[in-house]
Amino acid sequence: MAQAKYTTHQGMNDILPGEVEKWQALERLIHREARKFNFEEIRTPVMEQTELVVRSVGRETDIVSKEIYSFTRGEDNYVLRPEGTAPVVRSYIQHHLDQRGGTQKFYYIGPMFRAERPQKGRLRQFHQFGIEIMGTGNAVADAECIAFMIHIYDVVGIKNTTLKINSIGDPASRDNYKQALTDYFTPLKDKLSEVSRKRLEKNPLRILDSKEAEDRPLVENAPRIADFLNPESKNHFEQVKLLLGELEIPFEEDPLLVRGLDYYTRTAFELISPDLGAQDALAGGGRYDLLAEEIGGPSTPAIGFAAGIERLLLACEELEIDIPGLLADQVDIYIVSLGEEGRKWALKHLPKLRRHGVSATMDYDGRSMKAQMKDANRKNARFAIIVGENELKENRFTFRDMEASEEISLPFDSIVEKVVT
Ligand code: AMP
Repeated sequence: MAQAKYTTHQGMNDILPGEVEKWQALERLIHREARKFNFEEIRTPVMEQTELVVRSVGRETDIVSKEIYSFTRGEDNYVLRPEGTAPVVRSYIQHHLDQRGGTQKFYYIGPMFRAERPQKGRLRQFHQFGIEIMGTGNAVADAECIAFMIHIYDVVGIKNTTLKINSIGDPASRDNYKQALTDYFTPLKDKLSEVSRKRLEKNPLRILDSKEAEDRPLVENAPRIADFLNPESKNHFEQVKLLLGELEIPFEEDPLLVRGLDYYTRTAFELISPDLGAQDALAGGGRYDLLAEEIGGPSTPAIGFAAGIERLLLACEELEIDIPGLLADQVDIYIVSLGEEGRKWALKHLPKLRRHGVSATMDYDGRSMKAQMKDANRKNARFAIIVGENELKENRFTFRDMEASEEISLPFDSIVEKVVT
């Protein structure tokens, strides 16, 4: 075949039929789960003012100093957004969304742009989904934010992940810590890698991220942020860990986790997958309590995370997870009814189930029990309620877990309770 004259830019991919179905399914899943957590979708333009991104993400970060796509047109400076948080915070301020009252909970899905060196799992146009919980500094929001992140991977079936968390404190603690790092690394400068030597001047925190072999032993012995946190930040971190424990979300404390963006305060976290190879970060996030004020808005403590969609799809490929298959239509309950009385009972009890938010259906035609069970399987029912003469007499019904093939006899109310919880 002749080489095409025009091709996509390096690190920017077409998503073709065959692949696009996975994207659609994943997006549907994200919309569905976000609604369960009461997040509202927000969509912002792919271009923002340069100054917004520089001030938010930080001039000395890799993203702004090396990876930003920018151009000027007349008086205006544009950047292709490299991440989703600064645009959402900008939108929140611009449209006074704080005035809707209470905590604002947003989610987004969309393309981001960074001029990185392309490799597996690292693109120049990639896609993220993420959430922002704005207007609360409470550790409960941190726990809920992390819980939603884990929940998505759980629903998809990516369970073998490691959650790493740390606290990077408030700006004053961080400045003291930066100074301590500078004092520690300066006499060791000659032993540091070239990248880290540069970082020492501009952003010593980033040395902690270094993957260079010569830096590792020096980093191991470096001062730790935990020793510089003020009591409020320390207390907040303790609360977050406690709540994660209560939610039974396992985590590892990683004192070297600092994240690459300037706007973070306090909680920082990352979700890692051993199934991904070198680019093993599935998602990351943290608190950014000062960002809204920093860019001209009201004081708005907030927390969020962003997750890479391509990396999630790579992990699914590794694990042979079929995302469209996950969304195959499913009904919660199929009522298998025998005889005329059974059918009447079924018809009367369907609305009761539906009122509890349970999806339910039945057979209309008085078919055999075997035919009804087959239909329940075809419809992917999670449970069946079997209603025959005996059941009606005793007012207890056979409740069958279709996947586990287990049955128990229960009154109707207990069945509802079981399905709803
Ligand atoms: P960050 O905004 O850098 O914290 O990234 C959040 C998540 O987005 C990462 O954990 C990755 O899953 C994903 N991500 C970041 N940069 C890229 C990239 N260049 N290509 C693909 N995915 C990325």
